[in-house]
Formats: sequence, structure tokens, C-alpha cells
Amino acid sequence: MDISVYDVLIIGGGPAGSSLSYSLLNAGLYNTGQEKTGLKIAIMDKAVFPRNKVCAGWVTPEVMRVLGIDLTEYAKAQVLQKVSGFRISLLGQQQVENIYPGEPVSYGIRRVEFDNYLLQRCGADLILGEAFEKMDRTGNGWLVNDKYEAKLVVGAGGHFCPVARAIGEKGVSELAVAAQEVEFEMSVQQKANCRIKKEVPELFFLPDLSGYGWVFRKGDYLNIGLGRENKSRLSAQVKDFCEYLSSLGKIPADITDKFNGHAYLLYSHSVRNMVADNVLLIGDSAGLAYDKSGEGIRPAVESAMLAADVIQSCDGDYSKEKLRAYNELMQQRFGQRLPGPDFMQRLPDFVKRAVASQLMKTHWFTKKIVIDKWFLQKDQTQMPAIKGQLK
Ligand SMILES: Cc1cc2nc3c(=O)[nH]c(=O)nc-3n(C[C@H](O)[C@H](O)[C@H](O)COP(=O)(O)OP(=O)(O)OC[C@H]3O[C@@H](n4cnc5c(N)ncnc54)[C@H](O)[C@@H]3O)c2cc1C
Repeated sequence: MDISVYDVLIIGGGPAGSSLSYSLLNAGLYNTGQEKTGLKIAIMDKAVFPRNKVCAGWVTPEVMRVLGIDLTEYAKAQVLQKVSGFRISLLGQQQVENIYPGEPVSYGIRRVEFDNYLLQRCGADLILGEAFEKMDRTGNGWLVNDKYEAKLVVGAGGHFCPVARAIGEKGVSELAVAAQEVEFEMSVQQKANCRIKKEVPELFFLPDLSGYGWVFRKGDYLNIGLGRENKSRLSAQVKDFCEYLSSLGKIPADITDKFNGHAYLLYSHSVRNMVADNVLLIGDSAGLAYDKSGEGIRPAVESAMLAADVIQSCDGDYSKEKLRAYNELMQQRFGQRLPGPDFMQRLPDFVKRAVASQLMKTHWFTKKIVIDKWFLQKDQTQMPAIKGQLK
């Protein structure tokens, strides 16, 4: 059998995988500002793109900026919903609306389009419709599926990434967010009756703040979902949530599309190793979503950019010792894993519920803490955008 040889083989063509290739093959890496690397890169994905991904499709402007996406160009062929504010409440309580004048504070994209857009421009050889099955050690890297030789294998296969499994500690139990979501194009009738404003997604926090539900209207599409760090009785809670929304006239009562489930890890609760000899994990494979909002696309993209710098600095030696620089960069960027509980988490459950109930009724808390701090990460410094265009 013919063997294809690569410097870097990325398993998974989501935002993490495509951003890594794009960073490596573009002029101007994050830290070094060096020229494009000239590495031979392939992305393997079990799906054929465009493929769907269970996700609300909410992205912060930061994601579009670091990826250098021309918004006008993007919006010509893909849904790009501008978001100017959020309606927030504790489930069952009155909602508080905060609107931000000026530039959009977020965007709504459809993952089926967004991921395909990023993959098609990323510059790697694409091996689509083939699942990663195994990797065997070679003299200076890995042989994947008996067909592809690579000096470095990058796990970008999302929460259930097989590369993460291959280098993981067996038996480690993980506290993952379990979530369910549906996205569908509304009929003319449904659009006419829809009470969700396009520019203002609605968020409904669970009484103990362990997660939240959402309704997000993106152009003609409606996305409804709920996620929390506890998977018990999730389907029943999603059903109750939809009945509640429907009783308020916020979503149609006649949704026929099926809800789909998926999981992901929050950064501070993840215990995954991110490097091994000739292996590195990025995105959900490494468990990186922001703790409070569950935003995973931005950390997926940023981890890919940091990984690109480390790969560049390794100069072809992808030993664990060399790749450890990635752990350090990640810690500088995203902080210590497993920090102690914050103020709210330390409160006894009944006090937490009472405090949350009061705070979630105020403009101050919903704007300054929930939106600015938890969702828009206004405290987080910006990374330089990936420069240049693929030649
Ligand atoms: C219900 C829900 C809603 C969410 N909403 C948001 C949101 O609104 N905004 C946000 O920022 N984040 C959101 N997230 C999180 C976000 O979806 C992820 O953090 C993000 O997709 C991570 O990107 P990734 O590239 O690491 O992995 P993924 O996007 O999961 O991509 C992984 C890729 O690997 C491929 N793959 C998997 N196994 C194999 C295999 N064996 N062989 C080959 N290929 C394989 C898959 O086909 C897939 O294409 C949500 C998550 C869920 C579950």
C-alpha cells in the first residue's frame, strides 16, 4: 500500500484543525511573526464537508478578527447574523434586555457553513470521509491507519477525539457539559409568528447557574438548546424548556426536527494531557471551553494559533520535551486548570439560588458580569490576527 508522508497530520477539520493549518501556512505566526512554514500538512476528518455540528453558532467578534474573516465577503454566501444585545433571565423569571449601541457584540453563524468555509481556505491536503482508526509508532513519528506517516499528529477531533483517547490516562472521569440543540429553517408562518428578535438572542439560566438554555434566531434559522454540567435527565429538561418557550410564544409548537446531543469540557474542569511524544491536542480535544459561557470556538482557534507557534519553534523535533512549551503558552493564555471555586460556587445551594434569583433581575449583573465578563470575555487580552493570505 502507498504511504503518504506529512510533517503534520491533523485529525479533525473543525475550527481547531482548520485554524492550525491556516496559521501554519500563512505568513505571520502569533508570537514569532515568521514567514509561512512550508510544512506538508493534511487534515483527516471522518465526515465529508459541509457537515453539521451540534452548536448554537454564537461567535464573538474576536473569532472573526483573529481569523481575518472579511465579514462582508463572508455574508455574501453564508448566514452572518449581527447581534446587538442579549435578553437574559433565570429560567421562569422576568427577562432583562441589554442592548449595545454601535458595532455588533457577537455574530450568529451556521456551523455547517462556517466550518466548511474555514476548511476550504486552510491550505492543507484534505482527507475527508475517513475516520482515524489507529496510530502506530515509527522511528520519528506515527503511522496512522497504516496509510499516513506523520512526524506530528495533532488531535483536533472534538470532545470524543480518538487521539486524545490514544494518549489519555485510562479511567479518568470527566465532568463534561452535556447539551442538546436543534437548528431549523423556519417556515413563512413560523417566521411571521417568531417573537425572538434577530439581533437579540435570549438566554435562560438554570436556577443553580449550572448551565443555561438559549433561543437564537439567525436570519431565517432558529436555534434552540440547553446545556449543563450534569447529564442526568437532560432530555426531559430540554422538553420542559421547549414547552415553556412555546407557552410564551417564543418558539413554534410544531417543531418536527430532532434535537441532537453532544458534550464538551470546560477548561478548568478538564484534566486531559495536551502533549505526548509527537502528539499535541487542540480545541475540544484538549477540553478548552470557557467555564461560564461554554464558548468553545474562540479557545479552539486560539489554541490552534498557539500550537502553530510551538510547532514552528520545534524545528522538526516534536518530542514531548519540545512540545511542553505549548502547555506553558496555554496556561499563560487561559490560566490555571482546576482553580478553587469562585464566590458563587462556594455558596450553599439554597443561598446560591436566592442570590442568583435577585442578581439576574438587575441590569448591572446581567450586563457587567454575565455579558461583559462571562460571555464577551472583555477582561481577556486580544491575540494578534493571523496575517497575510495564502499564496
Ligand atoms: C450544543 C452545543 C452548543 C454549543 N454552542 C457553542 C456556541 O454557540 N459558541 C461556541 O463558541 N461554542 C459552542 N459550543 C462548543 C463548540 O461547538 C466547540 O467548542 C467547538 O466546535 C470546538 O471545535 P473543535 O474544532 O475543537 O472540534 P469540533 O468542531 O467538534 O470538530 C471536530 C472534528 O473532528 C472530526 N472527528 C471526530 N472523530 C473523528 C475521527 N475518529 N476521525 C476523523 N475525524 C474525526 C469530526 O467529524 C469534526 O469535524 C457548543 C457545543 C455544544 C455541544
